[in-house]
Amino acid sequence: MSHVLTLNAGSSSLKFGLFATTETDPNEMCAGLVDRIGSDDGTIKLKDAEGAVLAQTGPQPIANHAEAVQSALTMIEASVPGAKVTAVGHRVVHGGVDFDAPMVVDDAVLAKLDRLSPFAPLHQPHNLAGIRAAQAAFVDAVQIACFDTAFHRNHPFVNDTFALPMRYYEKGVRRYGFHGLSYDYIAGHMADAFPDLHDGRVVVAHLGNGASMCGMRAGQSVCSTMGFSALDGLPMGTRSGQLDPGVLLYLMEQEQMSASEISDLLYKQSGLLGLSGLSNDMRRLEASGTDAAERAIAYFTFRIRHELGALAAVLGGLDAVVFTGGIGENSRRVRAEVCNGFGWMGLTFDDAANAEDATEISTAGSVVKALVIPTNEELVIARAAAAAAAA
Ligand code: AMP
Repeated sequence: MSHVLTLNAGSSSLKFGLFATTETDPNEMCAGLVDRIGSDDGTIKLKDAEGAVLAQTGPQPIANHAEAVQSALTMIEASVPGAKVTAVGHRVVHGGVDFDAPMVVDDAVLAKLDRLSPFAPLHQPHNLAGIRAAQAAFVDAVQIACFDTAFHRNHPFVNDTFALPMRYYEKGVRRYGFHGLSYDYIAGHMADAFPDLHDGRVVVAHLGNGASMCGMRAGQSVCSTMGFSALDGLPMGTRSGQLDPGVLLYLMEQEQMSASEISDLLYKQSGLLGLSGLSNDMRRLEASGTDAAERAIAYFTFRIRHELGALAAVLGGLDAVVFTGGIGENSRRVRAEVCNGFGWMGLTFDDAANAEDATEISTAGSVVKALVIPTNEELVIARAAAAAAAA
């Protein structure tokens, strides 16, 4: 039996998963996290598919992503003896205009991905560091890049552009959309489990620490709340979401903020954290009960309803809304506050089903269905890696 490894490299962390490749779907054997890369107190933890801890080490120095990949590999080899990795699948945030599907990484592809780093400077360089580390660690394995943007690449022009002079569009200043691996998984799951809905008009709300929504017709992305960067659209744990561009001019001209100060403000100090002044974590906000936490949750659910209406209008109506991501899968309150605002569109919410975390949280007679579907981005990467290994 051969195996595929999935890697999701962030600025200071590396998520990894080992899958056995079978005739059907890749089968997750274990998954782990290398945390605090670049520090003296890094940690590594590996769990089996049921979540039981198989091994953990640290705190220990982990200098860079190459060391992180090596440490992950050492831990996997000790816990799953004989694992033979034939392909490594990487989550890569940006595939630019050209990449609308997973790509086997060779020198030319890597050079193209390097050139996209200015489009996602906080994520892309770390993703590529993960690829280079895996190339060194697994010289015989095929490396495959899976893009968060790819799922959205066939947007019609009006959902792909801003109203700027066209030279910026030509330079790549476009509405890319992100969270594509999650949307890909949900579309595939719906094709199997809810084929009629899949063939219709669906809005998927990926609500996690990062959050966006995607309007799909017949499983294809038509529009997304995220645009050029992963800042647009919904407010997130620490990201602002949609902002009047005049605010940026004000911050630069009147507050004399530099580009890096504004970047820090918009990516790390805004969203639920900025509004509440308390936490980026929805669980903590829901438990808090303070006015500050309540106003953050109120803005979050208001923006989701706002975007749901807009996306439904673009789709020409709505057959189903799907909740996923840490908040979408777990927050009964957020789901209820969103759905109860959509009775006018034919969505009749089922409070009892929601309280039981059922898959279907709309009533049997509801014209618009509301569903909860746990996402699985790693499986999408593992499938692409397994397909590349078999090719
Ligand atoms: P993710 O980035 O998909 O892992 O999602 C993280 C977000 O999900 C955080 O804001 C968590 O607070 C939130 N979350 C996880 N479990 C719950 C829960 N039971 N209730 C409300 N929010 C939750």
